[in-house]
Amino acid sequence: MATKNFNLSQLTGEKTYTEIVFNQVWGKVEAYRKTHGQQKIFMMAFGDTTQPLPPTVVEAIVDAANRLGDPQTYTGYEDITGNLALRKAICGNYYQKKMSIELEPSEVFISDGAQSASVNIQELFALDNKVAVQNPAYPAFVEATLLAGRPLVSLSCDEENNFVPDLPSEKVDLIYLCFPNNPTGAVATYEQLQAFVDYARSHKAVIVFDAVYSSFITLPNIPRSIYEIEGAKECAIEIGSFSKTANFTGLRIGWCVIPDALTIKNTVPGELNNLWRIRHGIKFWGTANVAQYGAIAALSSNGQEQCQEVINYYLKNARLLRNGLEATGLKCFGATDSPFIWVKAPQGLSSWQFFDKLLESTGIVGVPGCIFGSSGEGFLRLSVLGQHEEIKAALEYLES
Ligand code: PLP
Repeated sequence: MATKNFNLSQLTGEKTYTEIVFNQVWGKVEAYRKTHGQQKIFMMAFGDTTQPLPPTVVEAIVDAANRLGDPQTYTGYEDITGNLALRKAICGNYYQKKMSIELEPSEVFISDGAQSASVNIQELFALDNKVAVQNPAYPAFVEATLLAGRPLVSLSCDEENNFVPDLPSEKVDLIYLCFPNNPTGAVATYEQLQAFVDYARSHKAVIVFDAVYSSFITLPNIPRSIYEIEGAKECAIEIGSFSKTANFTGLRIGWCVIPDALTIKNTVPGELNNLWRIRHGIKFWGTANVAQYGAIAALSSNGQEQCQEVINYYLKNARLLRNGLEATGLKCFGATDSPFIWVKAPQGLSSWQFFDKLLESTGIVGVPGCIFGSSGEGFLRLSVLGQHEEIKAALEYLES
């Protein structure tokens, strides 16, 4: 007799981010649309990109598609851990050139985005492993932990700690850290990340470091990769993505680094890397080859220049909107090193009250901070991955 997955059944009834956004946020927007006729709506809720793929990437994808259409050049499955040229480009053009970090291509696994990489990685670890997650957090980290039935520990991030959590006060086994952070936009310093690496090494814990917004960092002296921290290769897995830096949200491609030096209880160097390779063979046979050729092009020097233009475009949006919000007296965080603005609700309003007020007065739609965790109560997240023109038009409503 088949029985349902109990843990999954506990996540129904609008307990997940996606359900809440699609039902409650969307429901309020629809109601607003009905009562406000022609009033413009400025959708700043979703972390989805709006700019086109860089031209170098488009060219590479078209070339790849043409090769697939020709019997002389057709290829089928790629290496299940990812195209070797792509893994070499991630090691050479990204980690080595940008941060002087030495990694072997065999330590890099290509995935169909950071979402699946960051949550599936839990399968490397036993079910009783205790998972620490920032609060507020990118919701998938919490939801995947609950789905697996692992114990969850919350690391509070607030104005007092600049949205960088203190070390866990109890012993934990896995620690999700995301910097630059979604939703708060916060970044962590070398010293703050060193403290987490030291904690992980002394407790034989593993840090899962989500660095998908690393290319947005503009502040000086902020690490872009956990491997810039001494000892991190022994205790950290890093997750990267092409989604927000190269507008690949629809192409679906990311990566995950499992250094050979990473060990936990009863493992030898290289063992976890090998286990993940085996898991790839069981559950994943690689991401689309055209997407991988696009990603190789994004990491070429032309590609990187064009990707930087995309990032600058979004960061300009961020500056414009943050300045506009602050001019109205709102307190804002983030926006300098990530495409998110974390806005404090005025006059003690709750996240949802602030959401309603902003929508009603300006047509701007954000995501109530409480959906990202209890410590997000009293905040609203705005995404600036939209078009300049939209941001400028929204500013006019804010000012009026
Ligand atoms: N991690 C964080 C912190 C994100 O904000 C996102 C997307 O918004 C992801 C992972 C997922 O990225 P991908 O599109 O590569 O799956």
